[in-house]
Amino acid sequence: MAKDPVCGMEVDPKRAAGSRTHDHMTFFFCSQGCLKAFDSDSHR
Ligand SMILES: [Zn+2]
Repeated sequence: MAKDPVCGMEVDPKRAAGSRTHDHMTFFFCSQGCLKAFDSDSHR
């Protein structure tokens, strides 16, 4: 299991809504909403 960095939920990488690689780490997201929140956050 991986941890969704936006909401802190445990996410199964096979069932994740999406993933992003940032600073050589891969993050998985429970939903499109969390994915978008991560994307807008990383633009700062
Ligand atoms: Zn989430």
